[in-house]
Amino acid sequence: MKRIALFPGSFDPFTKGHEDIVLRGLHIFDEIIIAIGYNSAKSNRYFDVKLMVEKIQETFSQYSSIKVETYAELTAEFARKHDAKYLLRGLRNTTDFEYENSIAQINRKLYGELESVFLITSPEFAWINSSIIREVHKYKGDVTQFLPYTL
Ligand code: ADP
Repeated sequence: MKRIALFPGSFDPFTKGHEDIVLRGLHIFDEIIIAIGYNSAKSNRYFDVKLMVEKIQETFSQYSSIKVETYAELTAEFARKHDAKYLLRGLRNTTDFEYENSIAQINRKLYGELESVFLITSPEFAWINSSIIREVHKYKGDVTQFLPYTL
């Protein structure tokens, strides 16, 4: 059976840190669905979600086993609809751990079969943070070195 993992996040924007998690995830899973959590009715995104879908598709155009979707529902429900039995997440630091720990516990209570899998981020990308990139971009700073595509 195909091992399908969902890599959920806001990806506002998708960074080299995220790319690293996806590429390393491919050593474990047969297919990875990058799922952008997005609710059009109450979106307060900085980067347009359609643009981000395009940029992520462009980044992984050589990989038929990487897909990109958007969703506006419980992550676990979305995973179930796509036959994904695993949630892939990256861990940068203890703040990520605290947050991820409670989400993973709740998901296991609600959806026992869904297993969360965490990859410790590569040190060269661990400091890359989407919210700081948004801030730099807003004030016209150059963010190209943090992203796996050009904006
Ligand atoms: P969320 O809004 O769910 O935190 P993000 O888009 O910020 O979504 O992150 C999605 C996932 O990618 C999370 O598991 C997060 O820990 C991980 N991540 C974020 N930044 C990095 C990075 N620089 N290196 C590796 N993983 C990262």
